[in-house]
Amino acid sequence: MLGVMLRSLRVDRTAAEAAFRSRARTFVEEQVVPNLDAWTARGGFTRSMFLDAAAAGLLCLDGPESFGGGGGGVGFRRNAVLCDELHRAGDAGAAWALVTHAEICAPYLWSLGTAEQQDRWLADVCTGRSVLAIAMSEPGTGSDLASITTTAERRGDRYVVRGTKTFISNGVSADLVIVAVRTDPTERHRGVSLLVVERDTPGFGVGRALHKVGLRTQDTAELFFDGAEVPAANLLGAEGEGFYLLMRNLPRERLVMAVAGLSLAQACLDRTLERIPRPVGQHARFRLVEAATALQVGWTYLERCVAAVDAGTFDGADAAAAKWWATDIGCQVTETCFQLLGDPAATDVARFVDDARVQPIYGGTNEIMKEIVGRSLGV
Ligand SMILES: Cc1cc2nc3c(=O)[nH]c(=O)nc-3n(C[C@H](O)[C@H](O)[C@H](O)COP(=O)(O)OP(=O)(O)OC[C@H]3O[C@@H](n4cnc5c(N)ncnc54)[C@H](O)[C@@H]3O)c2cc1C
Repeated sequence: MLGVMLRSLRVDRTAAEAAFRSRARTFVEEQVVPNLDAWTARGGFTRSMFLDAAAAGLLCLDGPESFGGGGGGVGFRRNAVLCDELHRAGDAGAAWALVTHAEICAPYLWSLGTAEQQDRWLADVCTGRSVLAIAMSEPGTGSDLASITTTAERRGDRYVVRGTKTFISNGVSADLVIVAVRTDPTERHRGVSLLVVERDTPGFGVGRALHKVGLRTQDTAELFFDGAEVPAANLLGAEGEGFYLLMRNLPRERLVMAVAGLSLAQACLDRTLERIPRPVGQHARFRLVEAATALQVGWTYLERCVAAVDAGTFDGADAAAAKWWATDIGCQVTETCFQLLGDPAATDVARFVDDARVQPIYGGTNEIMKEIVGRSLGV
């Protein structure tokens, strides 16, 4: 069987790793898969998913233990394995909701939050009682983050926030949103700050869930700030540091997205191999072999990337390369599987195609990823 001999992210190295994978798999089989139809019909997960994930010890693996998190300390591989197992559900929406919360948003709170902020927010975040989102993109600004126009004007002990954010993952469900705002209109990069906006803030409004091609078990929303009054005590990091703080966290976030890309594709290929009628013709066999080989190469590469994260040597260009390559492979493999299965009733495989499609777009588009890698090559 392809993969058994290779050391890759999909091969557990210790009994503890195998036990963790098994715990994640049980959570997916018992708490996620049985709910997928209901979550799809209602256009998003229910909060019980976060509570169940926390109860299974799978939410905020790196969060401080004193607040109910996993305490970290065993390396990023475990986070990658969890991401992989979540995609075995045959759905990327629930996985993306949890990843957005625990891998993308929550680390800002425990790495940047003051003691007072952590006391206020982290227990609920680590135990799944609060859902998190991060809002950078705006109707007129996605790739060029330094151009955001949502303003936050300081007035005494408050910021008054005005503007609109769009495509915000978990936006409908979120209790806390980390919002990129412009605190200094005379500066570009140095004019951006991060504010944590609480759901019941006066002047803060959440639009309807946006209709999407994929990720139908997870909500995405527009957010409106119409003079929203946010306590100055909700500033994350220093004023004017926001852009740089976002950049600092991006390599890790983009590696999770790369893992998600391969995970989705692998789950789709596994399902296709189970289902495709035998015997297959040579054309189909070769396409399936190409897909399996690309994934095996990818898993081995991502194993090295994960090790580099733990070693502190993983940089922005590495992350950009992993993200564009893995998410492009994700789209190619899912398309191949759907094409070969040739079964209009294969809606579960079609769902992989739909869910994969956004991966080259969010978290920085793959075109922007190639710009980043290009700069690192000096071209
Ligand atoms: C389902 C979903 C969930 C999302 N979740 C979040 C979230 O939680 N938080 C958040 O802040 N944002 C989120 N986003 C927004 C996402 O990050 C942006 O859509 C993305 O960054 C692209 O921005 P844009 O849509 O404004 O496109 P643009 O930046 O306008 O780009 C349009 C096209 O032009 C290309 N392009 C742009 N600049 C260049 C360039 N210099 N060279 C070559 N090509 C270029 C892009 O690659 C793209 O193909 C989400 C988006 C989706 C679809």
